[in-house]
Amino acid sequence: MESKTAALPGEAFAAASEAAGSPASGRTTSAGPFPTRSPAGGEPLGDVAGTEPSAVAMIVERARAAQVTWAEIPIRERAELIARVKKRLLARAEEIAALLHRECGKPIEEAALAEVLPNADLVDYWTLSIEELLDESPVDLDALAYPGKVGRIRRDPRGVVALITPWNYPVAIPLRTIVPALLAGNAVVFKPSEVTPRAGALVASLFDGLLPEGVLGVAQGGSDVGAALIEAGVDLVVFTGSVATGKKVAVACAERLVPTSLELGGKDSAIVLDDCDLERAAHGVVWGAFTNAGQNCASIERVYVEQAIADRFIARVVALTGQLRAGVDVGPMTTARQAEIVRHQLDAAVESGAEVLAGGAPEAGSLAFPPTVVKIEREDTPLLQDETFGPILPVMVVKNAEEAIARTNASRFALTTSLWTRGYERAHALARRLRSGVVTINNHGFTGALPAAPWTGTGDSGSGITSSPHALSGLTRPRFFLEDRSRAKRELWWYPYTPALRTVAFAMARARGGAGFFGRISALVELVAAFARRLLGR
Ligand code: NAD
Repeated sequence: MESKTAALPGEAFAAASEAAGSPASGRTTSAGPFPTRSPAGGEPLGDVAGTEPSAVAMIVERARAAQVTWAEIPIRERAELIARVKKRLLARAEEIAALLHRECGKPIEEAALAEVLPNADLVDYWTLSIEELLDESPVDLDALAYPGKVGRIRRDPRGVVALITPWNYPVAIPLRTIVPALLAGNAVVFKPSEVTPRAGALVASLFDGLLPEGVLGVAQGGSDVGAALIEAGVDLVVFTGSVATGKKVAVACAERLVPTSLELGGKDSAIVLDDCDLERAAHGVVWGAFTNAGQNCASIERVYVEQAIADRFIARVVALTGQLRAGVDVGPMTTARQAEIVRHQLDAAVESGAEVLAGGAPEAGSLAFPPTVVKIEREDTPLLQDETFGPILPVMVVKNAEEAIARTNASRFALTTSLWTRGYERAHALARRLRSGVVTINNHGFTGALPAAPWTGTGDSGSGITSSPHALSGLTRPRFFLEDRSRAKRELWWYPYTPALRTVAFAMARARGGAGFFGRISALVELVAAFARRLLGR
């Protein structure tokens, strides 16, 4: 098998870039859109080769040719090859965590727990289940209406999948699509975020030598490279990123009739009910708001707490937030641009009456945004309407669960919501009324790491699906294959159309349930006579 897998994905990408006159591996990044200094400490980051937008079509072309070979390899063999990625991930765990720390600013522990270990499980899940999940399934066909016919559904690869990803989980998010997409027989052309190109290159390197040349292509760059990828004639675009970019991607895909999966922003709420385990709720909400410095689509960006426990809950949240250590528990923000968005939202909220209970904005230009808790009443402020994507936890006191559900559902985002309560039965009833795609009771956000659980939203959060067998509805297309073993020279419904055929058609409708019991009996008698006439060509 290994002999089939001569070239490395990275080599294929470099070769394609070079052929089109773009910089090849090892040359400068500084002129491109890539950051050159670490958000954690400011030391210089290594060089990355960028891709000229004009080189993207060639990467896609190579992927298209390679996909045919790849899809011909039996699923079990594809799974055996990709299964090796797990060992590589675990063997390189420290290297991956260190790179994520340097490139994004994440604490090492957070990087390892969120981006290394769950992805080892992901590889296991998909490689062990893909054969069964993609197994052909028979379609039952009525023997009277369709004699001699056997139908089967196959799930075939889309072809070339364009994968465009954000910077906040630059190892985990791409792998969640690359692994099942490849296993399903697709080729993938991956465009990492321009903020985290080194993590993108690392992801691709995990597949080095395992795949036929060109099956996993990488295009490094910003929006122009992403746009070129969509224009290059791909068969599916899997996009994770902001709402604004998601809309542009949706338009570009619609113009080309390319199917799209969009996973966009969030404005997740935590609903804290008065019968909760207060200590667990406070710890969970603080983690859910500040992990990854709040730069998480599923960050808790609104807390609705029932008034009966509000004072105690808020006091505990503020105390726990005060214990978080800068750079140890909560890293710096990854980009100055995002830090400015967060600052503006916080300033506007304070102007409209919000009270800062912990933290507060740092000096302008600083990435070290402290975890910040605000108590707020008015919802008509960007801090509660737009995605924040930073370490701010707004808390609102509500009369009851009804008010919390109504306010949660009023958002145009609907990704995940958590309910904190000991009343599980009630919680499930409330959960069903929430719009978000994921609801967790007494926990928040972590289910994105579960390969068997669908990660999906609605509204401005997009409706793409990552993980679980449901993800395959995007990464494959169902195809129907029918085999007809009938010995009849003509089908009932073929020409010529005759009075006998008309009688057969209506008698069949009555016989199959369009009449009462006696009507069906008489229809069957009529049917037999009409069939005989029909067989004689009348
Ligand atoms: P972004 O929209 O700025 O960029 C995302 C990707 O799109 C990048 O690779 C970028 O280069 C590319 N891009 C930009 N313009 C493009 C264009 N015109 N055509 C094609 N590609 C283009 O988002 P970001 O700042 O990198 O990421 C943060 C956002 O991602 C947040 O809104 C966050 O909520 C969201 N996100 C969502 C999920 C989810 O599962 N729903 C997960 C992680 C992040």
